[in-house]
This record gives sequence, structure tokens and C-alpha cells, in this order.
Amino acid sequence: MSTNGKTPQTDVVVIGGGPAGATCSTLLAQQGVKVSLFERDKFPRFHIGESLIPETYWVLQRLNMLDKMRASPFVKKYSVQFVNAAGKESAPFYFHDNKPHECSQTWQVVRSEFDMMMLNNAREHGVDVRQPARVLDVLFDGDRARGVRIQNEDGSQSELEARVVVDASGQSTMLMNRFKLRSWDPVLNKGAIWTYWKGAYRDAGKDEGATVVIQTVNRQGWFWYIPQHDNVISLGVVAPFDYLFKGRGSHEQTYAEEVAACPAVQKRIEGAERVTGFFATKDYSYRTRQAAGDGWVLIGDAFGFLDPLYSSGVLLALKSGELAADAITRGIQTGDTSAAQLGHWAPQFNQGIDRMRRLVCEYYDGFNFGKFVRTYPHLRNTITDLLIGDLFHDRVDAVWEPMESLYPPDKQPIPPWTSAPTHDQPIDKQGELVLPEGPLR
Ligand SMILES: Cc1cc2nc3c(=O)[nH]c(=O)nc-3n(C[C@H](O)[C@H](O)[C@H](O)COP(=O)(O)OP(=O)(O)OC[C@H]3O[C@@H](n4cnc5c(N)ncnc54)[C@H](O)[C@@H]3O)c2cc1C
Repeated sequence: MSTNGKTPQTDVVVIGGGPAGATCSTLLAQQGVKVSLFERDKFPRFHIGESLIPETYWVLQRLNMLDKMRASPFVKKYSVQFVNAAGKESAPFYFHDNKPHECSQTWQVVRSEFDMMMLNNAREHGVDVRQPARVLDVLFDGDRARGVRIQNEDGSQSELEARVVVDASGQSTMLMNRFKLRSWDPVLNKGAIWTYWKGAYRDAGKDEGATVVIQTVNRQGWFWYIPQHDNVISLGVVAPFDYLFKGRGSHEQTYAEEVAACPAVQKRIEGAERVTGFFATKDYSYRTRQAAGDGWVLIGDAFGFLDPLYSSGVLLALKSGELAADAITRGIQTGDTSAAQLGHWAPQFNQGIDRMRRLVCEYYDGFNFGKFVRTYPHLRNTITDLLIGDLFHDRVDAVWEPMESLYPPDKQPIPPWTSAPTHDQPIDKQGELVLPEGPLR
């Protein structure tokens, strides 16, 4: 099939070499599809999103990444634990108790290293990776995407014709911006400030690599506590954007105030040395209203971003990359690269995100994991299913009614994300990272 009368130079172009783009391109190449990937940055480069969840295992397996992960220095993660505003610790949610399989051990990664491993793996599978090379524009023939215009490292520009264009540009959201497809989440409008510590507290043995989610004392937000290799802890605070960034001091001051107000965090970093400056970002949740068009499809953060509470971002990037790769492969084999074919996986994928989103919103509305499992011990495994990212089966919906039975009488229902205004609200600098001076992780 030709796009604008010309024969496409490649089957698929992928914009962006983060986890979503690397996944999609690798799986396409594995299935004999000719694919070129453009990444604007030189790797290694800093990125946030360091805690994986167990359901990434199945995609990593298809990517032939498991042996590389096992041989990596990444800290093994077996559980997640919650500390409430009063400092009370829940029992750890051990993934293995739920699924006695090696998939229940996952990793705390350093993204500069993980992303480079993923992109090198794509190269090894035959993906034509061009880097650094920025995609300036997606080219269209009417409604059909036909390729991309690229700025090469030497500043020259070129075009590449393709049957399908995959937007994996992360929070740059190239095509979502172009077509004004973004729905901002009506309630999840947070920000984050974080830094890295050496020599902070680590649990022993199996708990060494646990993610700890620590609620702030005023219940406005929470800290992530992520143990990484080289004795480093990633420690960030997430709270409503206005609370964190409006009328407060520098990021350093705000972070220090939040730590000082939270004894459970303070005691963990006592005597530790801070090894980077302070990072900050706006992390409003959003999703696209349309996953695909004729000849194009969105994956990863270019499809949607969900609040990082349960560390679901990389899983959703890998999963959407996988689903899109299979849809594209089939589409190319059958000569059907229509919107319907390229995006047929999206409704079920959105249902999975809806489940994770609901669990996120319940937490912000006061949901208490400890109380829930004490009241409904038989649902501990089902809640753990959600925490590991097993989101795409309706059997996990068994948790919602019991959860509602514990609601305080005045609790408002959670507005669905589709209740957001359908126009694109301009919110500046979404996802723009404030990087500190000095060393990055
Ligand atoms: C505060 C915070 C904490 C988080 N914590 C976690 C966590 O613990 N666990 C987790 O799983 N997720 C977490 N996430 C989410 C995670 O960071 C993302 O979901 C994940 O990185 C998405 O992967 P991606 O491949 O879609 O996008 P990215 O990883 O952002 O990759 C996109 C790539 O596209 C490239 N690109 C962009 N525009 C162009 C262009 N025009 N041309 C060429 N290349 C381009 C970029 O350089 C980038 O490398 C967190 C996010 C935030 C904000």
C-alpha cells in the first residue's frame, strides 16, 4: 500500500525512545515489521519513574529483557507498604503471597540505565534507532498520517514516509496536542518535588527493596520512598499542585518543610547525605479521547498519564506499547492501518486505567489499606492484584462494593475522568521537569 502515491520507506516510525517506544518498536521488529525510532535526547538521560510493578514481567519477557534485568544492579522489589498519617505501618503487601511465581519479584530501576538497556535491546532486535534526532512534525495526507519530518543531529532536516506513525513522545504528547485530544483529569492535579539520599534507612532482607508510601501528617499528600542500588534512596513528595507550589518558598524549602512535618520520613533519612539537588514537576493526570487515527496511534504517556501513587506509569507504557505493536503488525499484514484497527485495544486498556485511577482516588479520599484487609481479609489478594498491575480483568472489580461499605457518610462519589471538560484546557508546563544543577541520578 502506498500513502501519498509514494512507496513508504519504512513500515513504522516511532517517535520517542522511552519505555513505550522501545517496547513497541522491539515487538514490531520481532514480528518482521520494518521500524525506525527517533529519540531526541542522547542517552543516558535523567527520567523519573523508577519503581516497576510486577505485571511488567510479561512484557519484559516478550522483549527478551528478563535476563538483562536479572544481571542488572537494580534492587529487587517484593512488596509495597503503606504508612498512614499517624505513622502506623500496614503489613507489607508481598506480591509473592498473591502469585507464587517469579513474576512477583520486580525491580527498582534507575531510569537513565533502564531506558538505555531497553533502547539497546530494541537495536539488537533490528530496530533502526536514530538518536539524537527530533521529530518536528507528523506529516499527513488528509486525515491519514504518512510519515514524519525530522531534525537530525547536524541540524539538517529530512522526511521519512511510513505506513504507521506511533507517538511515544511521552509528556510532549505531540499528536494529542495537535488534535486537541487531551482530557485533564477532573481531580488528579498534583505536583512533585524529590531528591536522592545516600545512606538512608533500608529494611533488611526481602523488605530491602520495598516501595514505602508514606502519607503526610496533614493528609494533603504522600512521600515515595524507593530504595535503589549504590545505597541511594529516591524520596519525593506528591501533593496538590497549588498546595506544593503556590505561596511557598523554593523547592528545597518546601521539601524541607514537608519532611520536617513527617516523623516517619524524618527518621528514615536521619544521618543520610543528600546527593543531588531538588527536582520538581507538575504531574496533572490526563488521557486522550482518541487512541488512534488512520495511520497513527498513541502509546505510553503520549496516550495518558496517571498519578504516580501506585507506580503504574512504566507498566502502562509497556502494555500500551505491546498492544499497539500487535495491532500494527496485524494491520500491516492485512493491509488495514485504519483508526479502528490500530486502536482496537484502547477501550479495554482504558478500563484497566480506570481501575487503577479509582484506587488512586480512593487513597486521596482517605481509603485505608490496613482497615480494608482487616475487614475483608478474603479480598487482600484482589487488592494486591490491583497493586501489581493486574488491571485488565473484571474479577478485580469485586473490591469496589466492600470499599464503598467503609465510606464515611459524607463522601462524594469520584467523578469519572470523562467528566472533564472536552476542550483542551491550557495548563502550562505539564511534565516539564525542573532539573537541579549538579549531578543527576
Ligand atoms: C513524579 C513522577 C513519579 C513517577 N513515578 C513512577 C514510578 O515510580 N513508576 C512508574 O512506573 N512510573 C512512574 N512515573 C511515570 C513514568 O515516568 C512514565 O509513565 C513513563 O516514563 C512513560 O514512558 P513513555 O515511554 O511513555 O515516556 P518517556 O519515558 O517520557 O519517553 C518519551 C521519550 O520521547 C522523547 N521525545 C519526546 N518528544 C520527541 C520528539 N519530538 N522527537 C523525538 N523524541 C522525542 C523523549 O526524549 C523521551 O525519551 C512517574 C511520573 C512522575 C511525573
